[in-house]
Amino acid sequence: MTFAIKSMGPPGRHMRGTIVTCGHCGVVRTVQINHFKGQQRDNDDLEQQFIRNKLEKDGWLIGKKAEQHRCPGCYSAIRSAQKRKNEENVVNLPIKPGPTKPEQPREMSRDDRRIIFEKLNEVYVDEKTGYGPGWTDAKVASDLGVPRAWVKGLRDEMFGPEGSNEEIRATICDAQILLNDIRVVANAVQGSIEPLKTILDKAERIEKRIAQIQQELR
Ligand SMILES: [Zn+2]
Repeated sequence: MTFAIKSMGPPGRHMRGTIVTCGHCGVVRTVQINHFKGQQRDNDDLEQQFIRNKLEKDGWLIGKKAEQHRCPGCYSAIRSAQKRKNEENVVNLPIKPGPTKPEQPREMSRDDRRIIFEKLNEVYVDEKTGYGPGWTDAKVASDLGVPRAWVKGLRDEMFGPEGSNEEIRATICDAQILLNDIRVVANAVQGSIEPLKTILDKAERIEKRIAQIQQELR
């Protein structure tokens, strides 16, 4: 947008300036730039910027074309209308579908069922033992790429509890051996090392707990 600058005011006064008209209501505004009088053409840009700044500071909207200028009154009406519209838009925004629910497992097909069954058959020892060493519902599920819930469901229904009792038994066995070793050493050094008493107390507690676990595993 270039403002047309012309001589204004009474002849001989060398007043220059521009007239802008509101493209909506026809209000007219004169901006004088006597200030720049007599300066070089290089200052045209400066004059243009001066006019624009002055009008904008006063609340004018400067359009790309002269007929798009809006006086402060019309511009503020536009802005409030725009604001209202934006607010309405916010209210009327279509409700976005929420974040997709964490993968709803698809229905288990007969094939899924067969594959899971075969895998369980392979890695599940028996109802008393549970899974073979290293196997769990999670491992079977990730191995087959199926939801864990499917594995759990089928295993509960067709095989037995998940607990890998074999591993627990092996661990208990190790613990018992260790407790026994501690006791042997304790006897050998009896009376000479007081701190050993604490360890022995601890060992006793572990032993009791082991007895409980064994009871539970039966
Ligand atoms: Zn206006």
